[in-house]
Order: sequence, then structure tokens, then C-alpha cells
Amino acid sequence: MENSSSNNRFRSTVFNHDDEVRNDQDKEYVGFATLPNQVHRKSVKKGFDFTLMVAGESGLGKSTLVNSLFLTDLYKDRKLLNAEERITQTVEITKHTVDIEEKGVKLKLTIVDTPGFGDAVNNTECWKSVADYIDQQFEQYFRDESGLNRKNIQDNRVHCCLYFISPFGHGLRPLDVEFMKALHEKVNIVPVLAKADTLTPSEVKKKKIKIREEIEQYGIKIYQFPDCDSDEDEEFKQQDLELKESIPFAVIGSNTVVEAKGKRVRGRLYPWGIVEVENSAHCDFVKLRNMLVRTHMQDLKDVTRETHYENYRAQCIQSMTRMVVKERNRNKLTRESGTDFPIPVVSGVTDNETEKLIREKDEEVRHANHEPESHYQHDHDHEHEPEHNTDHNECSESPANPETHSDQLVDEAL
Ligand code: GDP
Repeated sequence: MENSSSNNRFRSTVFNHDDEVRNDQDKEYVGFATLPNQVHRKSVKKGFDFTLMVAGESGLGKSTLVNSLFLTDLYKDRKLLNAEERITQTVEITKHTVDIEEKGVKLKLTIVDTPGFGDAVNNTECWKSVADYIDQQFEQYFRDESGLNRKNIQDNRVHCCLYFISPFGHGLRPLDVEFMKALHEKVNIVPVLAKADTLTPSEVKKKKIKIREEIEQYGIKIYQFPDCDSDEDEEFKQQDLELKESIPFAVIGSNTVVEAKGKRVRGRLYPWGIVEVENSAHCDFVKLRNMLVRTHMQDLKDVTRETHYENYRAQCIQSMTRMVVKERNRNKLTRESGTDFPIPVVSGVTDNETEKLIREKDEEVRHANHEPESHYQHDHDHEHEPEHNTDHNECSESPANPETHSDQLVDEAL
């Protein structure tokens, strides 16, 4: 042993150059260069999921486009309502899930549809149930990730919303503006100009410019494609620029295959000719599909997680904090003067929901600690004793006490 180590020392002084070469070789063998492969293998094994919402007036071709995008029939058992039924129709939210596989990569695709949106005679606030649905998915995720078992959380958060704009209007309608403004901070909105085959190329161009201007004018924050790195090649930069200028994507959908120039293609057959869905001279379908599936799916998920969900989470915690501060103050005031004062309410998350959340969390923690009920009762009563009143004392109590647990939340949040 000793011999070999002294040999090593000797070699390291005498054969310095050889050692450097060996070090270089050794570097190759450390093996962290395989990390991307490991991540790749693991994520392929686990599979991917993506939730896409489609919204817009009925009849604009939403279901046809979704079927064309993913080459599946997701709307087999759809029931269409007649005019009378639609008069008082409320917006429904439906979910279709398909597992698709391509070259061994599995994708669990969920399509959230909003039938009835914009269909009734009075469409005031018809975006509300869509916004509530998105919030509910955030709330469920928030509960799950703050629970004790976080391993197999089912993530139903909506990653992207394709908003269909009618080709027949002059730009955006009030309902479009209302919808996008109400949802732009909850979900990545990608506007699309529906049924583009009903417009001439110059009409498409003009409408796109008008819609982009209106989006800007009304302060609507649609999904922003990330800027490409300065070291990307020119071709990539050009594609990126074209993508940004395509907004809103002018799309055409079709569930039928027709023959065009001796080839079978997905398209629409008219007496005067054929419009091909996948022909980029006819529409932006391929650009939209590439963006959604090939180039930006992961970014859409990242923005959902890092921006939209984070906003929701921060609001939730803020609201919980306020509620606990309110509770603390009420306790103090009840002891001193018996009066109360108002606390501002954060929109989106109600006090009742927050209270329920806090109670559930405390319940979970108590179960986890196997805390007997009587102990909890004892601590809780103790909290109201006049001499036990400093913040420090409150925080150092057992986590089984709901007020103490809430206090910790407040302290963390503050
Ligand atoms: P949804 O109610 O928004 O889901 O609309 P559908 O997909 O059911 O389509 C309504 C009607 O429009 C159907 O007759 C479709 O064949 C037709 N349609 C769908 N996509 C297009 C399109 O891109 N161009 C034209 N001209 N018609 C379309």
C-alpha cells in the first residue's frame, strides 16, 4: 500500500505531463455528461402530459381543429344543442383524455372544451366558469403539493388555451376582449383566427394586424414566445420571427382526407378547389402544430408552473396570512376591547376556502404527529390565557395547535 502511494507521489512529480493526459482521460470517465441521457430515459419512461383548453364561440371549428392536430377523434359522443336549448345555455366544461404514442414516447393529452361559451342570448361574464375551472385545478394542485403524500400528484393544470376568433367580425369582439383579459393571468392564451379558408390572403393579413393591434391596445397579455438565444443559427432566428408574426395563427381544420395533385391530404373540397390543412401557403396549421407539439410544449408547461401557478399560490398564501393576522387581532381585541376591524379580501380566494385549507393542513399535521385530541384542546385553551401573549411564545408551541401552525405560516409568509 505504502509503496504504491509513494510510487504515485514519485510519478506525479516526474511524469507530470502523463498525469495531465490521464486526467483529461479521467474527465471523460466521470460520466456526468450522461446526465441529459438519464433525464431523457427517465422522462420517456414516465411519459408526458399536456392539457390544452379550447375556447370560443361554438361552430368556429374547435373540435375539428383538435382532431386535425392530434389525428384522433376526441369528440365521438358530442351532443349538439338546438337553438332553443342554447338560449339559456350555461358554459359547460368537458374533458377528454387520450394516450398517444409516437416512437415509444407516450403523451397523455387532455383537451378541455368549453361548449356553450358565447352561445346564450346573454353572455355577460360567461368567461367566469372557465376562469373558475382553471382556479379549481390550481387549488387542487396547491392542496396536493402541501399535503403529506406528494409523490403521485395528478397535475390537471391547464397549460395552454387556444382562443378561437371569428373570421367574420372586424377584429376582436367585446366578448373576446373580456375573455382574454379575464384569463390572461391564469393561463397561456394563444389566439387563433378560425376558418381561415373563408378569407382571402390579404384579408387574413389585414385581420391579423388589426387583432394584434387590439391585443396591444386592450393590454391583453397573450403567451409570449421566449426570445431565441443570440448564438442560434440564422435559419432558426428566421423561423422564430415568422412564428411571432403569425399571431393570431390563421387555421383551417378538416376531418376528411381528399386527393390533391395525386396525393391524399387532409383538406376541404370546394367546387372551386381544395384547401389543404397542412399546406403552409394555405394556412398556419403546421406552424401552430409545430409550436404546440415540437417546439414550445415544455415552455408552455414551464410558464404555467413558474408564472400562472406561482401567482395563484402567492395569492393564496397572502390571503391565508391576512386571515391569520385578522384572527390574531380579533383574539387580542376580544381580550382588550371586544371590537373588530375590517381586513382587505384578496379576490379569487375566499376566506372560507382559506379557512378550510388551514383546517385541513392542521388536521393532516395532527394525524401525522399522532397527537391526541385532548392535548390539542388543552393547548388551544391555553392560548387564550392573558399572560401567554407574546409572538415568541405562540410560535414555540406544538404544531398541533391550529393557531400556532397558522402563526408559523404567517411568520414564514411575512
Ligand atoms: P365547434 O363547435 O367550435 O367545435 O365547431 P366544429 O368543429 O363542430 O365545426 C363546426 C362546422 O364548421 C362544421 O360543419 C365543420 O365542418 C366546419 N368547419 C370546421 N373547421 C372549419 C374550417 O377550418 N373551415 C371551414 N370553412 N369550416 C370548418
